[in-house]
Amino acid sequence: MLQQARQVLKQYFGYDSFRIGQEQVIQNVLEGRDTLCVMPTGGGKSVCYQIPSLCSDGTTIVISPLISLMKDQVDILRSNGIPAAFINSSLTYSQIDQTMEDVRNGLTKLLYIAPERLENESFCKELSQLNVPFVAIDEAHCISQWGHDFRPSYRIISNLVSLWNKKPTLIALTATATPSVIDDICSLLAIDEEDVYITGFSRENLSFKVLVGVDKDKYVKKYIQSYPNETGIIYAATRKSVESVYEMLLKSGVRVAKYHAGMTETERTKEQNRFLNDEVQIIVATNAFGMGINKTNVRFVIHYQMPRNMESYYQEAGRAGRDGLPSECILLYSSVDEQTQRFLIDQSLDRSRIPFELKKLQTMVDYCHTQHCLQAYIVEYFGEQVSQECGQCGNCTDERPKTDVTEETQKVLSCVVRMGQKFGKTITADVLAGARNKKVVDFKHLSTYGILKPMSSKEVSRFIEFLIAEKLLSVKPGQYPTIYVSEKGKEVLIGDRKVLRRLSEEPKVVIKDDP
Ligand code: ADP
Repeated sequence: MLQQARQVLKQYFGYDSFRIGQEQVIQNVLEGRDTLCVMPTGGGKSVCYQIPSLCSDGTTIVISPLISLMKDQVDILRSNGIPAAFINSSLTYSQIDQTMEDVRNGLTKLLYIAPERLENESFCKELSQLNVPFVAIDEAHCISQWGHDFRPSYRIISNLVSLWNKKPTLIALTATATPSVIDDICSLLAIDEEDVYITGFSRENLSFKVLVGVDKDKYVKKYIQSYPNETGIIYAATRKSVESVYEMLLKSGVRVAKYHAGMTETERTKEQNRFLNDEVQIIVATNAFGMGINKTNVRFVIHYQMPRNMESYYQEAGRAGRDGLPSECILLYSSVDEQTQRFLIDQSLDRSRIPFELKKLQTMVDYCHTQHCLQAYIVEYFGEQVSQECGQCGNCTDERPKTDVTEETQKVLSCVVRMGQKFGKTITADVLAGARNKKVVDFKHLSTYGILKPMSSKEVSRFIEFLIAEKLLSVKPGQYPTIYVSEKGKEVLIGDRKVLRRLSEEPKVVIKDDP
């Protein structure tokens, strides 16, 4: 069975060997077991359903939320000699009829459909009368309420499958599943625990870095100038920000494209192609860009602002270095980014998800303030045990000595307690720094007022963010998030735990090592 799979890999895709995890997933699927495949972006998930499909009779159905990319995916398959087709809202009724006619006549090996199609009962019934060996569910985290991109139509998949006389084998695929998302996918699709394949989340060729409070424009310009022959993506949080970074780079003579949902489809395709064909060095984009984009030589991904959660971050940053060569993922953080994301979350339609989204945002903020290995932080977030630090991220290579800040920490924690544990970090920082603004009037009598002078409010604020990332302080999310002392923090208060922090000035911003 695997012999044939290997031949297909060579014949249609031109590769000699499978990557980690692919072989096991393909074997499991070919044995008819419903399977969940969790692999990082760029890990090679597509062949995990394409190869079983090519090794079997009938048409494999691929459910994918990436409507705008279906055509590209299908074109690529066709150019490799694989008969594939798609059905989504971009087709006319007669095109859909023709596509279904081809499918009925056994001319199509892979049929891509948008999840919303599943809401059409007669369409589902029609599918159930076909010979379908496999149903692939791409971006399977969309089925879970705990995923970052919940799509209600995904819930219909199990109903669809129950329509068939001979049940197709399911293969669910995702890059971004936390343990609770995995549990959810498995229970909703009735996948056994032993049929879950998770391959390493760490991407050894990526080095991560967070820079706090740098002059972003200056940094980005200098960075790009230092790597004139390397291609990169710059992600910004809003359309407006994409436009301004784009203009700034254009003015400095950088060959640059832009991409966001406010542009017409024609413009977007044009800009995307300029980037894919190496006509420009850089693309500045919102998170609308990148899904399914397969450009392997992206050497760096810079986040001009912090994204809203770790899933998005890793997915976007993971577009660097798909060819396995060393690449950088840099996040430029400033505290305004947190407010921007808070605002965007607050605009979201599904109010019930807001507390959940805010919690995810906090984990992202913590990433920006941790002093531990960044690669390990990410991988652990996705539920994988880490045996060693990466040795190459901004924190692993930070050589500043660690200073004992236990006493300062105790001062912060006691101030939080004195303030009744019901205020946010900005006002707490103002109190500790002895600020003279109106907001702190009520706290001037506290013994902790001004206790961290001569630190500025900004410095104290950063210290508090560090303590949150260290889990000594916890955040109660909400429109006005408040901070309180965690169980671990209490150990510091009673002198049972020490706190070490790399102090002195921020690490030097080294852009390029001398050649
Ligand atoms: P994912 O969907 O997991 O993000 P893709 O399926 O798009 O990733 O694959 C990423 C890239 O890796 C593609 O260019 C693909 O052709 C390539 N690839 C997949 N499997 C192999 C393999 N066994 N050997 C070499 N390259 C592979």
